[in-house]
Amino acid sequence: MKNHINSCQHATWKNVWMAKYNARIGSVRINMVRRKHATSPACPHYRSPENTDHIFTCPSTTASTSYNTQMIKLEYFLKQTTSSELQQSILKIVGALRHRRDPIYDEGWRSDYKRLTTKQINLGQRAFLGGFWIT
Ligand SMILES: [Zn+2]
Repeated sequence: MKNHINSCQHATWKNVWMAKYNARIGSVRINMVRRKHATSPACPHYRSPENTDHIFTCPSTTASTSYNTQMIKLEYFLKQTTSSELQQSILKIVGALRHRRDPIYDEGWRSDYKRLTTKQINLGQRAFLGGFWIT
């Protein structure tokens, strides 16, 4: 029962965060300055302004460490829950969006997965983080 409650609370928090992220109204520094809750729009870990896009792409050591830790968890989760092809596609999409570069496809990639992965990357981080919207 406790795990179910924790899971539901996590889902609620995640839903609120995603709604704010997608509407670009989350409590990032740029919004906090506008609301007079902070004095500087700069990311506390990196010199650029902290907007919602920056949260996912921040190159600071702190953000990179967190990203790497979460990617290990994501990879483990995907291995348990989906096909190898979809797992690799999702990991390539996250990496491409985080590092703002095109993915490198190994020779064995199926053309349909490559096309879908590229299409998802082109939709951008907001669409991807809000759901896997391949058409
Ligand atoms: Zn940053």
